[in-house]
Amino acid sequence: MSVTPSDFEQQTSKVRRPSVDPNSGVSTTSVHAGEARQKPSHAITDSVVLASTFTFKNTQAIIDFIENEEERGEYGRYGVPGERVVERKLAALEGAEDAILYSSGMAAFVGVLNSVLSQGDEIIFFDECYHRSREYCRKHLSRFGVKTIDVKTGDYDAMEAAITPNTRLLVSESPTNPHLSIVDLDLFAEIGKKHNVLTIIDATLATPFNIQPIAHGVDLVMHSATKYLGGHNDLLAGVVLGKKEVLDPMRNLRGIMGAVNSPHNCYLLQRGLKTFGLRMKQHNENGLRVAEFLESHSRVEKVYYPGLESHAYHGVAKETMRGYGGLVTFLVKDADWQETARIVDAAKVARIAPSLGGVETLIEQPLVMSYFQCTPEERAEFGIDDNMIRLACGIEDADDLIADLQQCLEVE
Ligand SMILES: *Cc1c(COP(=O)(O)O)cnc(C)c1O
Repeated sequence: MSVTPSDFEQQTSKVRRPSVDPNSGVSTTSVHAGEARQKPSHAITDSVVLASTFTFKNTQAIIDFIENEEERGEYGRYGVPGERVVERKLAALEGAEDAILYSSGMAAFVGVLNSVLSQGDEIIFFDECYHRSREYCRKHLSRFGVKTIDVKTGDYDAMEAAITPNTRLLVSESPTNPHLSIVDLDLFAEIGKKHNVLTIIDATLATPFNIQPIAHGVDLVMHSATKYLGGHNDLLAGVVLGKKEVLDPMRNLRGIMGAVNSPHNCYLLQRGLKTFGLRMKQHNENGLRVAEFLESHSRVEKVYYPGLESHAYHGVAKETMRGYGGLVTFLVKDADWQETARIVDAAKVARIAPSLGGVETLIEQPLVMSYFQCTPEERAEFGIDDNMIRLACGIEDADDLIADLQQCLEVE
């Protein structure tokens, strides 16, 4: 059997057609949403369509395509069939009208900024945002006359006070990295609406399993799909979600930028998403158990985890989050950076690497991994302590992760 026109149309459709009830649970959505019920060759899985270009029967077919805005592929840089499947699945998970997939989380963020901002515009960040995001604004957008303003994370009055008639975008992460501060999404969205400024939340650390910013009135959500969404430390991807009319210009720009995924990468992401709900349950459980263990340990000075009552943002986290994720940051009591490094190096289960959100638990010392070339003053400004360890819990058994940390914390 060959591909029927309706199968192909469903795979390349420009509008979201959820193939599951919108009220379905996360796992039903992550397994089924966005996919055609009947696929080419009657296969249960989608095919990986390895095409960079798509043929037309004749000249009239090209003219029909242009005049009728037909839902079909034309050239790979504007999107491939497998990409639309993943975009629809992610939109369904997020409760968003539409989604655009990019080749990485940073490509997604840059895609948004380059689409929204023009010379003379201003953008306001909560200051705990991903340092590469702020670096792009400070070092590069500044060359095009865009001004970046940082305000203290969680200071909504300061954010509102920084708004001018030139402000186009309010940016935050929730939770932030590595301090795991949580944004009050209702308040954040309200400021944007009041001043008619677009709001965007980088919800990479939360995922749509734990928070749904769009339901709180936030305009745009982005994720590094490299992390929990892909979930297996084997791909890079990014996604932006929101209303179709807001996303359309970004999709057009992506077609020019070319920050797209290969068909194979799209399939890896689609496959990773099948177990999204299961994985997130385990990440959330491991994060909480490990955080509670660390907090009770005599050699630990402080634990940052929004699920702990001791966390500065526990109240808002409890109200808005379904779970608190796999990332746990802690400080080792009275340790210098070398002693802290010895604890990291003792890990037997956790692997030493940057990133988070995959099935493998990763451990790192932020001072060494991301801030080694900064001055002590810069580290103080970013809140990076010498004795800080960041643990990104994977989906191994919590007891084994705790036993591993126990033996790490016995190191001299
Ligand atoms: C990793 C990450 C990014 C960047 O994503 P890439 O896929 O690595 O480009 C952006 N924001 C957050 C919060 C991240 O953790």
